[in-house]
Amino acid sequence: MTATIIDGKAFAQTVRDGVARDVATLATTHGIKPGLAVVIVGHDPASQVYVRNKVRQTAEAGMNGFHFELPEDTPEAELIAKVNALNADPAVNGILVQLPLPKHIDESAVVGAIAPEKDVDGLHVVNAGLLASSGGGMVPCTPLGCILMLKDTLGNLTGKKALVIGRSILVGKPVAQLLLAENCTVTIAHSRTQDLASEVAAADIVVAAVGIPEMVKGGWIKPGATVIDVGINRVPAPERGEGKTRLVGDVEFATAEARADAITPVPGGVGPMTIACLLKNTVTATCKQNNIDL
Ligand code: NAD
Repeated sequence: MTATIIDGKAFAQTVRDGVARDVATLATTHGIKPGLAVVIVGHDPASQVYVRNKVRQTAEAGMNGFHFELPEDTPEAELIAKVNALNADPAVNGILVQLPLPKHIDESAVVGAIAPEKDVDGLHVVNAGLLASSGGGMVPCTPLGCILMLKDTLGNLTGKKALVIGRSILVGKPVAQLLLAENCTVTIAHSRTQDLASEVAAADIVVAAVGIPEMVKGGWIKPGATVIDVGINRVPAPERGEGKTRLVGDVEFATAEARADAITPVPGGVGPMTIACLLKNTVTATCKQNNIDL
C-alpha cells in the first residue's frame, strides 16, 4: 500500500480562495474590509520570511494588511502600548505578534494584552480556555489547519483513535482539544511517554508535533492510519552538495508512506495551511466583531 499524499499546498489554496470569496461578500454586502495587523520585533530571519508571506497573502485575499517592524531592543511596555493601540483601532480586526520575541520581553504578557476577539493566533488564555471548555473562541492556526486536513481526508472523525505526539500550547494541546471536539478518543504522548511505538501502533490518526527529525518510525504506524506531520526540521543533506540542508518532518516519511492510508509531506503539508488559517481566522474575527453570519 502507498499512502495518499495530503497536498497541503493545494488545500491551503482552496482555503484562501474561500477566504477571498468571504472578503468579497463582506465588501459588497456590508462595506467591510477585514484588517490584519502583524507586529514583528527584531530581525530573526525565519520570522521575517513568515511575516513577508503573511503580508503578501493578506493582500492577495483582498484584506487590509498592517505591518509593523519594531527594533530588537523595543521595551516590553512599548510593545504592549502598540498592541493596545491596535486593540482600539476599528480598522484592525486581527492582531498577530510574531513569536518568538526577544528574550527581554515576556511573551505571555504581550499575548495577554491582545484583545481576545482580535487574537487571530488563538493563543490568549481566554481563547485557550474556550477551546478547553465550550468552544467558540479563536482557534490556533496550525491546529486548525491539521483538523481541516483530517476532516477533508477522512470526513467524520467520530470514534477514531487519535494520538497527538507533543503537548505544547502552540500545537499539541489545542490539536488534542480539537480532536476531542470531533469525538475522537484522544491520547497525548510527550517526552515522558513510556512506549511511544505501541501508542502509535494503536492510533487511527497520528498528529506528530515534536520537533525531532523522523523520530516516529514508519514501522510503528498502524496500517491504514492517517498521519499529520507538523514537525519542520532542517537536517544536513550532503547528497545535495557541501553545506546543503533539507526539511524533514517528525515522521520517517518513506517508511510511513508504505503503511499509512494518507500522510502529509514535509514540506508542503501542514506548513502552508498555517497562514491560510490565519486569514480564515481574520475573517471569522471580523464577522464576530460585526455580528455577521456569512
Ligand atoms: P515544542 O518544543 O514547544 O514542543 C515539543 C513537544 O514534543 C513537547 O510537548 C514535548 O513533550 C514533546 N516531545 C519531546 N520529545 C519527545 C519524545 N521523545 N517523544 C514524545 N514527545 C516528545 O514544539 P512545538 O512548538 O509544538 O512544535 C513542534 C514541531 O512543529 C516543531 O518542529 C515546529 O517547527 C513545528 N511547527 C510547525 C508549524 C507549521 O506551521 N507547520 C507550526 C508550529 C510548529
